[in-house]
This record gives sequence, C-alpha cells and structure tokens, in this order.
Amino acid sequence: MDYTSTRDTKKRITSAEAITRGISSDGGLFVPTSVPTVSLQFIDDLKELGYQDRAKKILGLYLEDFDEDELSDYVDNAYGNGKFSSAAVAPVVNIHDNVNILELWHGPTCAFKDMALQLLPYLLKGSAKRTLKNKDIVILVATSGDTGKAALEGFKDVDGTKILVFYPNSGVSPMQQRQMQTQEGSNVGVCSVNGNFDDAQTGVKAIFTDEETKKVFDENNLVFSSANSINWGRLVPQIVYYFSAYCDLLNKDQISLGEKINIVVPTGNFGNILAANYAVRMGLPVNKLICASNSNNVLTDFINTGVYDRNRKFYSTISPSMDILISSNLERLIFTLYGGDDEEVRKLYSSLKETGKFAVSDEVHKAVADRFYGGFCSDDETMATIKETYDKFGYLADTHTSVAIKVLNDYVKKTGDDTPVVIASTASPFKFCTSVMTALNGHAGSDDFENLSELEKLTGIKAPTQLSSLKDKPIRFNINCGNDIDSMRKVVFGMLKI
Ligand SMILES: *Cc1c(COP(=O)(O)O)cnc(C)c1O
Repeated sequence: MDYTSTRDTKKRITSAEAITRGISSDGGLFVPTSVPTVSLQFIDDLKELGYQDRAKKILGLYLEDFDEDELSDYVDNAYGNGKFSSAAVAPVVNIHDNVNILELWHGPTCAFKDMALQLLPYLLKGSAKRTLKNKDIVILVATSGDTGKAALEGFKDVDGTKILVFYPNSGVSPMQQRQMQTQEGSNVGVCSVNGNFDDAQTGVKAIFTDEETKKVFDENNLVFSSANSINWGRLVPQIVYYFSAYCDLLNKDQISLGEKINIVVPTGNFGNILAANYAVRMGLPVNKLICASNSNNVLTDFINTGVYDRNRKFYSTISPSMDILISSNLERLIFTLYGGDDEEVRKLYSSLKETGKFAVSDEVHKAVADRFYGGFCSDDETMATIKETYDKFGYLADTHTSVAIKVLNDYVKKTGDDTPVVIASTASPFKFCTSVMTALNGHAGSDDFENLSELEKLTGIKAPTQLSSLKDKPIRFNINCGNDIDSMRKVVFGMLKI
C-alpha cells in the first residue's frame, strides 16, 4: 500500500517513510492511496479475539512493509506488559440503555493519546531502520496537554531517539503541566511557549520546514519526525479501537452483526474522529459520527455550513485538550472528499493561511454533513453534564468526555435517533479533577492534588497511581520561550547541544 501527500499526489512513499517523515515537505499530510475494506465476516472473526490480536489484524492491513512477527512484537510491547491498567486495554462500559462509553484512558498517562503513543515509538524505530541510516530521530511535539506527556512516556529512553515537547504556557492544566515537568528519561526535554496551542503548533510546524534547521540537523546526523496526530503512525492505531468497541457490543448482544452504531468523539485536532471515519470507510457499520466541540466550535460551524473560519475568539476552557482552532487532520478528510484532488487542497489551505478561512463546495459540504453531525457546549453545560451523569448513572466522566455526552444528548433530542452509541472517553476524570470536583460539589480548592484525594473520598473511586504519585516527584523542566521561530529554534538546538 502506497502513501501520498494531500498537497502533491505525484509523491508515492511507503508506510515506513510516511511514519518517519511525519509531515510532507509540501506542508501536506500523508494518506494511504486506497483504504482497505473488510467484510462483516472479518468483524465477526475479530470479536473472538483480545485487543492485541484485533490490533494486529487491523494494523497489518495498513502497514504492509512491516512483517507479521515484527508488528506482533510491537503490539504486544505497546499494549501488553502491564502498560494498561485494564486487561481489555480499551473497555466498553454501558452507562444506560444503549449508551456506551469506550474508555481510552487506561494507559500510563491516563489520556487516550496513549493508545497511539505507546505504539508509535516501535513503528517509528521500525520505519527508521528501513528508511534512515544511522541517524538519530528528533521527535518534536506541540501539545495542548495530553499528547506531550503521552509522547514523552512512549519515547523515554528509546535508543536513537530524542524527544522535545512544547506546551502553551496558557492552556494546560496544573496536573498536565506537572506530568510533563517531572518527566523522567535521558533523552527528553520540555519547554513552555508563550501563547496558546495554535501558537505552539504553528511554531513547531515552522521548524519542521525551516531550511536553516535542516542544514544543522544534516550536519549533526539528525532527522526530525513528529509524534503529533498529523503523523500517520498516530492515526492508524486509533482505527483499531472503533472496531474493538463494535466487537464488544456484539459480544454483549447489544447489537447484531451489521447493525449500525453512532460514534461520538470529543474533538480537537480531528485525529480521533478521523480514525473513526477510516474505520467507517473500511466497512465498520456506522450511522453518524458525532463531532463534539467545546466553545472553540470551529468544527461545529464547518460541519453545519461548509465554511471553516478560524477568525474567532480563542477560548481557554475546562476541556483544554480540545482548545484548538486549526484542526490539522481535517485536511485528510477534505482531500478524501475532493476525490484526492491535491490542487483543491492546496487552494483551500493557502486560503486558510492567508485569510484564516476557506469554504468547500456544496457537494463536499453535503458529503460532510451526511457522515458527521457537529455540536458544541459551554463550560457551564460541561459541568452540569458531569454532575448529571454521575448522579443519574453513577458514571464519573472527565470534562472532555462530558462535552461528548452533552452533544450526544442534544443530538438525540433534536433527531430522536436512538441508534446504539459509543462515546469515546478520552481522559481519566482524575486528570481534570479540579473541574470534576467543582462540578460535583459546587466548589473545589485551588490545589489539584488535594482535589484528587477529595474526589477519591467523595466517589469512592481510586485515582490512577500515576497521577496521585506526581506530587512527590521532583520538577526537572521549568523553561519558557517565545513562539517565534528564532526562539524555538534556539531551544531545540540548546536541548540537543548542537
Ligand atoms: C487530544 C485530546 C482530545 C482531542 O482529540 P483529537 O484527536 O485532537 O481530536 C480530546 N480529549 C482529550 C482528553 C485529549 O487528550
């Protein structure tokens, strides 16, 4: 299976090259030139397997240049060895009637990013072995909070790699910040950037394509790669859990083979929901993909109008991992819906760069609206949903998951659609415990760690030890820089000592 760039379809590369390069030099994203399809029988067979074996079957369809044994080792290392606190890896919990929560946060950093970032280092090393000779890989990450920690945890002490994480100094939660600042490992670095996530992401993207940086890297036998969700190696592991959730519903007799489900995804950079869309394109029976946003509702408007317009106020919300106005992975959807027309993609994205917006054709907008429903909610509504979900169903949801629950409730009210549903739950409630505690109790103290113990007491649920033990860990990284390319480049060279 070949891969190409959304902005230049003359390019043809292997999956290994797509993963090592991360982003195409033309600014586009790598996509497979065709999508493998599976039969209902394939899904029926999958339901007999555990998570790892389901993953091997799905990943094998996309990553043809890895042999079976190799992929099998990678998957066992990523999801086995006690790395995930649930044997099911991504368990499905029924909260009422036909509403189910797909818990994606049982990994080492308590957010769904682990699902991809525990596997990515293996895919990247395997890819680099094929495509680069004796070069060290530098992973550069811009994070809205969860990716950074998950990437640090995935790559720490992996030979032949170095990882540098930039997070916005306004935007991540105290718990997220502490997770990154205390990161262990000999090949890691962390720096806060003035501004919000978009500033950090724009800076990192600029470094990737910066000629001067490339020259210095070449001289030092280094090469960049990306662990952001623009990397195909991040996306492909995320396709697996949508199939897995469908299998779990089959096994619980909640649905019959071939019956359609709805999937709700709390969305930021459009990676998680795009993976769901790949699952649908492969043949997973799905009615609607419901894209849930917070007050940064650029995607809601896009799905409703066909106009993507980032010229709007940026809100810092209580679901910070979704505080994004440039949803990078949308480019892959647009490319697909334009039938792989790279010229259209170039036009739209140069318009986005110059004017901050673009409008898709009526036909493409119709295709978007057929597959996706878009909705959003405010922080107050998120808080009310946390409380309601806990009081009514005894289920403790984090702020991001609660955005999804609220948008689903609105969708059901509006449409009467009672299709069985899977809600992607993207973080442990203890990762955002100050907001969750405030929602349940009406108030909370200012200390995240005290709130964590209070939340444990109030609910009788034990917090993941990775979070409760953080307060005793020493801070290793406490530096800050501007969001311009010169400042960020300086930090990169400084951390790499070049
Ligand atoms: C990253 C993240 C999201 C958004 O996922 P995208 O793939 O960027 O759309 C939602 N919730 C949490 C907790 C996250 O960490």
